[in-house]
Amino acid sequence: MSFSEKEITCNACFVHGEGDIHFEPHQVKLAEGEILVKVTCGGICGSDVHYYQHGRAGMSVLHHPMIIGHEFVGKVCEVNSDDERFCVGQPVVVNPSRPCNECPECLTGHQNLCQSMRFMGSAQFNPHVNGGFSEYVAVKPEQCLPYSEQVSPKVMAFSEPLSVAIHAVNVAGQLTGKKVLVIGAGPIGCLILAAAKCAGASIVVASDLSQRCRELASQMGASTVFDPTDDSQVSYYQNNRGYFDVVFEASGASAAIASTVDFTHPNGVIVQIGMGASPMTWPVSSMLAKEISFKGSFRFVHEFATSVQWLEQGRVDPTPLISAEFSPDQVQEALITAGNKEISSKVLINFE
Ligand SMILES: [Zn+2]
Ligand SMILES: [Zn+2]
Repeated sequence: MSFSEKEITCNACFVHGEGDIHFEPHQVKLAEGEILVKVTCGGICGSDVHYYQHGRAGMSVLHHPMIIGHEFVGKVCEVNSDDERFCVGQPVVVNPSRPCNECPECLTGHQNLCQSMRFMGSAQFNPHVNGGFSEYVAVKPEQCLPYSEQVSPKVMAFSEPLSVAIHAVNVAGQLTGKKVLVIGAGPIGCLILAAAKCAGASIVVASDLSQRCRELASQMGASTVFDPTDDSQVSYYQNNRGYFDVVFEASGASAAIASTVDFTHPNGVIVQIGMGASPMTWPVSSMLAKEISFKGSFRFVHEFATSVQWLEQGRVDPTPLISAEFSPDQVQEALITAGNKEISSKVLINFE
């Protein structure tokens, strides 16, 4: 059988620039060998909010309209190949990563560090790579993982951020019996603490300036939570050369990043996940005198499959993190809501 390229007309959430987003007509091109997925649910990430608020996310600047969204799930709608692993109607989680599989990083199994990663919903390269907030998307079969119909798409929409969290846990190394601190209890911080517990951490403490985020951290399984402006709590955890074996920094705030060294016990590990404002003051001498390892964690590799399994099995329940749901034609309101940290954790777009 031969398969040819075809076009499907639908609507998608295009960001045009700062403050300019519309749910508008889009022609999806389904190439030979690709799978057409009817999107059911998507989660809004910080980078989606940044494209809408500033026309850029970090170093990635919008040069032309782009479909946002890299956290999404759907159902197989058409298989434009003779790949027999997928049948029409099968629910699938879509991995937004499209690594080149040719660069030195890819060839050594570090596809998350690929030199020319085409990540869906990212303006890193020009032309940009469209994301998944579209009624239909065309993806490669290797991006799709089937999941059980018993599990809600709202749960599975957390696969991508949970992959980021599991990768951070893997970067930290063995966590069994370890005392762990997570700084910053947004969706990623909360998923890290849940993943750290799954990985065997004995104590998982979370800190956040916001009371609402601290409550969410408790719901997600934190042993204790504290406010980083509470001096008695901070000194309790910083006394005796630091209480924690592993500290995950997920806030990106300069003061929080600098505080990690004092929280960390000699020989401990600090994992940086929060994107900080670059140049900052860092307590080098106490870091080296305690032989602390400072590691970066970026995106994920094989953790995507682990994440899908954990969500399917209910090992991590992300539902307390869902703070609002919108339909795709309300995408502007959804992004404004998601950008308000006082009220929002994970905002979902429901395509069904
Ligand atoms: Zn994300
Ligand atoms: Zn590569």
